[in-house]
Amino acid sequence: MNNIEIIEKIESTGTASKQELAFLLETINDSEFEVLRKKAQKKSLDHFSNKIYIRGLIELSSYCKNDCLYCGLRRSNKSAVRYRLNKEQILSCCNSGYSLGFRTFVLQGGEDGYYTDEVMCDIVSEIKSLYPDCAVTLSLGERTEESYRRLFESGADRYLLRHETANEEHYKKLHPSEMSLANRKNCLYTLRKIGYQTGAGFMVGSPYQTYETLAEDLLFLKDLNPQMCGIGPFIPHKDTPFANEKSGSVRLTLVLLSLVRLMLPKVLLPATTALGTADGQGREKGVLHGANVVMPNLSPTEHRADYLLYDNKICTGDEAAECIKCLSNRMKSIGYKIVTDRGDYSE
Ligand code: SAH
Ligand code: SF4
Repeated sequence: MNNIEIIEKIESTGTASKQELAFLLETINDSEFEVLRKKAQKKSLDHFSNKIYIRGLIELSSYCKNDCLYCGLRRSNKSAVRYRLNKEQILSCCNSGYSLGFRTFVLQGGEDGYYTDEVMCDIVSEIKSLYPDCAVTLSLGERTEESYRRLFESGADRYLLRHETANEEHYKKLHPSEMSLANRKNCLYTLRKIGYQTGAGFMVGSPYQTYETLAEDLLFLKDLNPQMCGIGPFIPHKDTPFANEKSGSVRLTLVLLSLVRLMLPKVLLPATTALGTADGQGREKGVLHGANVVMPNLSPTEHRADYLLYDNKICTGDEAAECIKCLSNRMKSIGYKIVTDRGDYSE
């Protein structure tokens, strides 16, 4: 099969073999890239028209007990400036976000022991009672089934937990030995079972990644069938073991966004901040390749510059209001509009 036939197969059946996916990823030329882009954009327009959902990202904490080799917040990074937001600060972010039109709050952070179930459930239920029309998304890493259940019962609607790579050997090269792909996958299946709208995903161009491991990522996503999927380029952080590695390719990230759109037509697919960091027009390009979500930052300005997963992160100096204005203009410039719906997954 040639690449156009593989693309058409994915479009009509929603999948392809590992060999076909890896071959396509490795050899897609510029005209095939454009064919794929058009099909993915059309799929996204068919389901969402030109609407782009916004999620207000609140970066709770830069403390992390984990030591993922790629991440600037890893515990071994002694140069990282650590902060955490308390309940009042988080509610204040939600308050300003609500006035700006946000109806989803994403609470993301390093794995910080301060946020016990008790503390987190209290925060989530308070947000849900103050803003009953809003969705709360959590992205707090791996927790126990009991913990995920308690948070869900407190009102959390969605959970983002990227699988990072679906290949066991690759996973081991990105994480210290106490972390495992099996546990990561287990968490994802548990989250789905509990009833969360669940998001998986991975970085493009992480060290040791191959076209085969990326094909495995796509097939894992097909199997998990998540409601959300986060994909962005790997970008090195200067104080990590991967400081001297190359950034992931923007073009390959766009190919993967388009493939995910064809494989999971209704998935909520952000044009990520990492994509916007790797390329000044990255988020616009992401949307034109099938993405339908953007996640502006609602974190307090004084802590923005301390939540650094990677170097040169954009928008660390901006107020939330400026971010949303800038993104609205960017989306308008390519014929899309930001909407304030909750933007839940629908079949
Ligand atoms: N601690 C939580 C949430 C914060 S990290 C967790 O790990 O799930 C959120 C995401 O940032 C990670 O899933 C990872 O895919 C991404 N990330 C971390 N370091 C990165 C880097 N150097 N470049 C690009 N993305 C990165
Ligand atoms: Fe911690 Fe998440 Fe960074 Fe890993 S990726 S070190 S879990 S913040």
